[in-house]
Order: sequence, then structure tokens, then C-alpha cells
Amino acid sequence: MDASQIKALKEKVQAMLKELEAELHASAGDEAVVTLDTSIGRLSRMDAMQQQQMALELKRRKEQYRLRLENALKRMDQGTYGRCGRCRGLITAERLEIQPDAVLCVRCAAPK
Ligand SMILES: [Zn+2]
Repeated sequence: MDASQIKALKEKVQAMLKELEAELHASAGDEAVVTLDTSIGRLSRMDAMQQQQMALELKRRKEQYRLRLENALKRMDQGTYGRCGRCRGLITAERLEIQPDAVLCVRCAAPK
């Protein structure tokens, strides 16, 4: 990847991060502890707890993704972006376009 490609991708990643932040912000509270409110029945409480679990899982995944994107931005600033973390080879631009947070090249990421 040359500097202009990285710059374009950086803007894309920053936009993705912004969107993710907004989503995380919007869903804040979804995972709030289900209170032992007696006004809702046992079944609806189970529903609520299940929804809470799903919201938590989704939030966890989004937070992980946010971390990966932030790390990608860091690597861009450090000039190490696009290098495979294992073999130090170059990760192709095509791969980074699809998965900007990729840390391994196709060969290293492939299941052995
Ligand atoms: Zn590699």
C-alpha cells in the first residue's frame, strides 16, 4: 500500500469508528441489569434477561472491533500498517480494503 492508499483507508476506518461509537452510545443501557421488578412476570423477565445477554454479546463484539480499528489507526501512524504480524510480509491492498483491521497476510491467516 502506498501513502495515498493508506490515507484513503485511514479516512474510511475513522468513519467506521465514528459509526461504531455512535452505535455503542445509542445502545448504552440495553445491557442494564434486569431489575427484579415484580411488575413484569417471570416469562417476560426471562425474555428481558435473554435480550440483555444478546445486547451484552453484541456490545462486546463491537468493542472488540473498535479496538481492532483503533489499533489499525495506530499502525498507520507508526508506519507499520499493512505488514503481516507473523511473517512481516506485505498484506495486499485488496485484503486491507475488505478488512482494514487485518493483522495477518492471507497466507498466515489461512487455517493450517
Ligand atoms: Zn504473513
